[in-house]
Amino acid sequence: MRIRKVHVFDGQKLCEGLFDVVTEQNRIAAVTPWDGTPAAQGEIDGNGGYLLPGLIDLHVHLTWDGLVDPAMDIWHRSKEENLLETVANTLKYLQAGVTSVRDLGSPDDDCIHVGQAIRRGWLAGPRIFGSGQSIIMTGGHDPFHGIPVDGPWEALKAVRTQVMKGCAVIKVSATGGVYGREEGEAVDDTELRKEELEMIMDEAHRRHVPVTAHAIGEQGIRACLEAGIDCIEHGQYIQEDMAQFMAQHGVAFVPTFYIYKHLTEDPNTPEYAREKASRVLEHHKNAVRLAKQYGVTIGTGSDAGSPNTPHPALQEELEALTESGLTNSEILAAATGNAAKILWQEGKVGTVAPGAFADLLLVDADPIADLTVLRKLRMVIANGEIAADNR
Ligand SMILES: [Zn+2]
Repeated sequence: MRIRKVHVFDGQKLCEGLFDVVTEQNRIAAVTPWDGTPAAQGEIDGNGGYLLPGLIDLHVHLTWDGLVDPAMDIWHRSKEENLLETVANTLKYLQAGVTSVRDLGSPDDDCIHVGQAIRRGWLAGPRIFGSGQSIIMTGGHDPFHGIPVDGPWEALKAVRTQVMKGCAVIKVSATGGVYGREEGEAVDDTELRKEELEMIMDEAHRRHVPVTAHAIGEQGIRACLEAGIDCIEHGQYIQEDMAQFMAQHGVAFVPTFYIYKHLTEDPNTPEYAREKASRVLEHHKNAVRLAKQYGVTIGTGSDAGSPNTPHPALQEELEALTESGLTNSEILAAATGNAAKILWQEGKVGTVAPGAFADLLLVDADPIADLTVLRKLRMVIANGEIAADNR
């Protein structure tokens, strides 16, 4: 495939000039300055449009449907129905220009199974980097897809089990959540203990798998940082010294900014959850501001599938982040180049460069000037194949 005459956003910045981009099979083969030759028969005329890497959503729950109470819904369904729901939700992503997702919790490891089906070519869908089941303490946040562990040795077993199943990331619940249980679960509650967290990080890193944590309250975030975490999800109570530590030690941050704002506004949100969401909201902006100030790697995650957040919701996250103090260029980097770094897939996804997978979006106007142009994709290429063509 040869795409002629396009501006290129390379995953960090808009490159100077116009380019031709060539793909071979499922990879990008060359990115060269456009020499003035018009597109020939069979080539794609970029027509001065903008080519960028396929977007990456670092926080989804593909088995959940994003209705009012997805956790309850899956408990009322059979395993087979849940797997099919996972497939149905996954198939919504390429059309929206999201060519990679990181699933941070699905019952029965459904996201890992569907990810394998896509890799084998059984389904056309985004690349799935899944945790499968998460690791939680008994009674911890998100029991619907959590393996309860108590003590370092149970934690060790859970890590090894998830790695054996083919997880791309280990997800832990380090604090309570906003939704979660109405009673007995608060965002300031720390959950897994130091010894458990340390064992999880140590073993995952020995198996070359990163660890990310659901962590809202200050003490829970701090415990994760001390234990050697790779990434913090939500992170509303990140403090200044923590942001400094994260930047120094390469710990990333996926704020999932949109969903908390949305939970406070959505009339379908139960009162207790709306109240909890409102309390963390003011801290959320501060956390993103500190992360930006100290140069923490920020990635984009929508938490799609969670209550009142149907798939896909990355575009909503990108647009919501403009209210957090990030520039459009920083937001696009968070959804491409930075996200690839967080996945430990730098150079493979989230970039327009030779050797990377050919996951590409073509839009008519400059997305850095206006992120809403991503709502009108001219073309989506996923793994070297045209997934959507609105030319
Ligand atoms: Zn989540």
